[in-house]
Amino acid sequence: MTQEPAEPQQPTFDGPPLSLEEELAAAKADPEAKPSIETVNESLKDGLNRCPKCGSTDVQLRGSTGMLICLFCRNEWQEARVEEEFGLGEGIDQLEGTVIASGAGDIAADAADMLTFKCEACGAEVVVDTAHALNARCHWCRHTLNVNQQIPNGAVPDAVLPFRLTKDEAVEKIRAFASKRRLFAHKRFKKEFVPENVLGVYLPYLVIDARAASQYWGKGEVETRRWTEKQGDNRVTYYAADVYRLSRQVSFTVDDLTVEGSSERASFGTANTNNIVNSVLPFDTKNAVRWNASYLVGFTSEKRDVNVEAMKPVLEDQLLSIGRSEVRGSLGRFDRGVRWEQEQVDVGGSRWVSMYLPVWLYSYRQESNGLLHYIAVNARTGETMGSIPVSQPKLLLAAFTVGTFLEGIAGAILVASA
Ligand SMILES: [Zn+2]
Ligand SMILES: [Zn+2]
Repeated sequence: MTQEPAEPQQPTFDGPPLSLEEELAAAKADPEAKPSIETVNESLKDGLNRCPKCGSTDVQLRGSTGMLICLFCRNEWQEARVEEEFGLGEGIDQLEGTVIASGAGDIAADAADMLTFKCEACGAEVVVDTAHALNARCHWCRHTLNVNQQIPNGAVPDAVLPFRLTKDEAVEKIRAFASKRRLFAHKRFKKEFVPENVLGVYLPYLVIDARAASQYWGKGEVETRRWTEKQGDNRVTYYAADVYRLSRQVSFTVDDLTVEGSSERASFGTANTNNIVNSVLPFDTKNAVRWNASYLVGFTSEKRDVNVEAMKPVLEDQLLSIGRSEVRGSLGRFDRGVRWEQEQVDVGGSRWVSMYLPVWLYSYRQESNGLLHYIAVNARTGETMGSIPVSQPKLLLAAFTVGTFLEGIAGAILVASA
């Protein structure tokens, strides 16, 4: 793997690591450091995304190919993969500090959702609600206007992973998912399933590369003897073990760790959308392409509302857990297990890129308690997961047959892969 030569505007790649004092001084001197990776698609500056062959702006994603298609001349093409375009697969073991791509920059507190664009073709002013959409059609000249410039409200990411599953395919996945769980499914759900309500939505994620070292301290037990004694009518088993103090340290890199970019989805709401959407991970983020709002024509989108700084603890948690599984292989001799009592992670460097990932969503409101339930389909892999309303008497019956009693099951999340 080769390391891209450091450019002057990428100070985080340059030279030896700064000491903490130097870093603080640098941060003070330049409080608004420029993003380290510039990802704005300059060729789309005017917001009219034209077909490279005929110049029409009637461009949208063709789901079955994952490519952009011109509805006028049927020409198909795609944007370059960001992996190669911005060197995102490279130099993870050399990362220093926090490298942030321009689309993952901090969200301005006063940034509005509603943006007014001047149509470059006819001069009319067109409003785009960037919380849900990044295209609008000019009502005068019918050109499609696209939000291609990164705006400080989190709506324009660095990259987009285009839908690949068509709506028909998603509807089939959802149907199959629901019918496989027919025993548990609410009667009304079956009766009221409306494929038209299956919506394609791009959800915001932060995709992270990192270089880290983690350390763990704890105790491990090795069994030395085991015996059984008769006590009255009972037989009691005893064991003897040696207890060792131990520590482990591991250095590693992670490539394309994916975390939620929406605080509403990341926190646990009543319907636990977070669980469902996260349970259709992973996405083939390596195939994400350069931002072009034409990929969003006909889809809705949800804007990112968390900053990199706020997600750092989430990254650290995930790194600690990756490190724990990395050291597990060296703990074989502790046959009675290891208990970690203290752990620590040092993130040597991290690189953050914001990305829209494609999900087909079906929502259903349960009449009895008003809860919203979802079935989500990963629009790249077809992985399907959902929380479908539970029919309580039926579930109890099913549970008894396997000898298990479940409590509090109304609205429980059924997790299984399609
Ligand atoms: Zn064309
Ligand atoms: Zn116009």
